[in-house]
Amino acid sequence: MSSGQRKGVFIRTYGCQMNVYDSDRMADVLRPLGYDLSPSPEQADLVVLNTCHIRERASEKVYSELGRLRDLKLERRREGADLVIAVAGCVAQAEGAEIARRQPAVDIIVGPQAYHRLPQLLAEAERKAAFRRAGKRVPGAGVLDTEFPPESKFDHLPEPGTVRAGSAFLSIQEGCDKFCTFCIVPYTRGAEYSRPVASVLQEARTLVSNGAVELTLLGQNVNAYHGEAVDGSTWSLARLLREIAGIDGLVRLRYTTSHPRDMDDDLILAHGDVPQLMPYLHLPVQSGSDRILEAMNRGHGRDHFRRLVDRLRGVRPDLALSSDFIVGFPGESDSDFDDTMRLIDEVGFAAAFSFKYSRRPGTPGAALDDQVPETVKTARLAALQALVAGQQHAFNRAKVGTTVPVLFAEPGRKPGQVLGKSPWLQSVYVEGPASLVGRIIDVRLTDGYALSLTGELIASLEEAA
Ligand code: SF4
Repeated sequence: MSSGQRKGVFIRTYGCQMNVYDSDRMADVLRPLGYDLSPSPEQADLVVLNTCHIRERASEKVYSELGRLRDLKLERRREGADLVIAVAGCVAQAEGAEIARRQPAVDIIVGPQAYHRLPQLLAEAERKAAFRRAGKRVPGAGVLDTEFPPESKFDHLPEPGTVRAGSAFLSIQEGCDKFCTFCIVPYTRGAEYSRPVASVLQEARTLVSNGAVELTLLGQNVNAYHGEAVDGSTWSLARLLREIAGIDGLVRLRYTTSHPRDMDDDLILAHGDVPQLMPYLHLPVQSGSDRILEAMNRGHGRDHFRRLVDRLRGVRPDLALSSDFIVGFPGESDSDFDDTMRLIDEVGFAAAFSFKYSRRPGTPGAALDDQVPETVKTARLAALQALVAGQQHAFNRAKVGTTVPVLFAEPGRKPGQVLGKSPWLQSVYVEGPASLVGRIIDVRLTDGYALSLTGELIASLEEAA
């Protein structure tokens, strides 16, 4: 809670890296208002739940968390203090009015496009709280801002400052116009928008000068990036990557999440000729069945994906791929699922995120009749995950005996251990001092497991420390 004039904000982040980035930016917005990050709701004056709407029951989790926060708020009020509760992110966008109805303890509901308005929303919430304390009636439950404002939030957010252990996210694109039939994003994040080149480059330089050696460019469809440069030209993601790669001090560059339809020739070539671009690409395919890909409105078939992978590996032979898969999309037959398993077998993945299809209200997929029974989905998911797990383990084992640069991110689970990431985003544990965090050091890999590797430092501890 408050210490002196400063206040505490606790931000709980659900879902994807876009939300991690947004949470950092909300912290940036709140810092000049006197808010420092708190480690728990109990120690905070303001709690922000930055929500994700992708998974089924995601909103239910939010409501149960809100129930706990309401109890905390009531406890505070009994002590003559208060707790401001804000709901941000995609659940706020999709269900704002419903949240206000179901949980009146919520003070602020803010959609992903309106974070720059947090100061006004907080002021409004505080004004209402003052009315309430004075015993006056306050109309309405929370403060709701889920409009898609005409101005871009990026023009109004302060300069970013958050670099964690040498690594930082940089959001360059938001929203989506593709309307995959299972996905809520086009409805919650709005139409596709690319940040202007100059503002992205400025942010990249700031992050590197603040200590980032690795940048991950983010967007719902990051490779659809088409930002306007000062000379009026339009830059593709490939052009932007080449420019950012030239920033002095930057060693690693990644981007996520891509769509197979937007992997243009120049971007494929960049994987071969931009050394800072790490040899790891997350490229969601969702299904290996042409019939299901069409029903999902993905705009490409299985052969297109196979050709893309071949071309990428042609320019960068050590490229590792991860992907997203949805099993049990409406109408998915055994033979459609077999096509997916065959695709996984043929391509070989270093990791994958896989889920059972879940109906997202408001999406076309939710209205389809031919829903797959839950038991079938469960069995298919287990089979797919077993196949990918085997590939991931084999990929990790194949690196044993090699020496790779590792960017250390945090202390490991055991005392005296540090955890870092290889160029292929594998978790690598070594014995070493915490002072390694934020640095890139060569490690000889000694053992490969299902989800991680162990290794030893090549340099002596004195040199590395
Ligand atoms: S491309 Fe499809 S899955 Fe990705 S954000 Fe857009 S609609 Fe959703």
